[in-house]
Amino acid sequence: MSNDVDEDGYNDSNRAFLQAFLARSTMTFEEAKPVLAAIFSTHERRPVLPEDVTQADLSSYIAAANTAISPFDLEIRSTLHQLPDDNGTNGGSHRVYALVNTTSDPLTQLATTYTADEIAFVKRILDAIFDTYNTRRSEAMVVTGMQAVQLAKVSSADRRESAATQQPQGGAAQSLTMQQAESVMKRLLDEGWLEKSRKGFYSLSPRALMELRGWLVATYNEEDDEGRRVNKIKFCAACKDIITAGQRCANRDCLGRLHDICMRNFFRMQQAEKCPVCKADWPHNKFVGERAITTTEQYQQGKRRSGNTQRVSNATASASAIEGDEQEEDAEGEAD
Ligand SMILES: [Zn+2]
Ligand SMILES: [Zn+2]
Repeated sequence: MSNDVDEDGYNDSNRAFLQAFLARSTMTFEEAKPVLAAIFSTHERRPVLPEDVTQADLSSYIAAANTAISPFDLEIRSTLHQLPDDNGTNGGSHRVYALVNTTSDPLTQLATTYTADEIAFVKRILDAIFDTYNTRRSEAMVVTGMQAVQLAKVSSADRRESAATQQPQGGAAQSLTMQQAESVMKRLLDEGWLEKSRKGFYSLSPRALMELRGWLVATYNEEDDEGRRVNKIKFCAACKDIITAGQRCANRDCLGRLHDICMRNFFRMQQAEKCPVCKADWPHNKFVGERAITTTEQYQQGKRRSGNTQRVSNATASASAIEGDEQEEDAEGEAD
């Protein structure tokens, strides 16, 4: 293999790495090791083992790739996955690298491969995750498969809104069939926009959060009718990334939030388990993400009644999630 080196040192190894990355769109260090080992083996004409690949190797290849792709408004960014790694490697946390488009919003990005009605459905899913199921009482920021399918249908309120604002093809968005909605959800999973938890809840992937950060804040953190700022999108006080899974302060008006993986180091450095914002004692049992639902008594009762956790259907999970939400509101409404 010829190894054309450009004047800036960019070579075939860099090109091979970028191609491998483009094919996947996200990568962890563990996933990058065999890829880089194969590239190094070819380049150095001797076998290089995945274990010999270092974080510094990956960082230098990503830096070179970023220089090559920046003219196209693309960038490889990284974030820590908000939930602990199943394998418990790297102290339970893992960094995810993702190729992101640095300029456009999600609806524009989907425009080349999804129809206008499908994109309107995706917007309803995002509204459900960041508005409907992200309230002062319950910051779940997830949807169940059943809730997603129910959003296939355009509500009259959505229709009024889409008629009032711009629709690419003119005219209001049309409903999808249940099958169409399910296939869009599957594509969003396959393409790495969404993740599905073992308990069946859909959330935005780390890649999507990185890519959509600016758009999410602009869309969901607005002033309400009385001119009060609504912070639907909140940030981890330790790492400053968006938080959609982690823990929250017990004080409902406080914006103190921490990822589980950030919390341990943060409290160790503070030498006290206090809210980083209001300094109240940290409760450890107030959650952001699906645990805002799954730790409610209502959800757990619903699971017991079904008798078999494997058989908890989306419908059961969905119904108990909503009930659980209301139950918590009632219970805490009395306590307030
Ligand atoms: Zn964090
Ligand atoms: Zn607080």
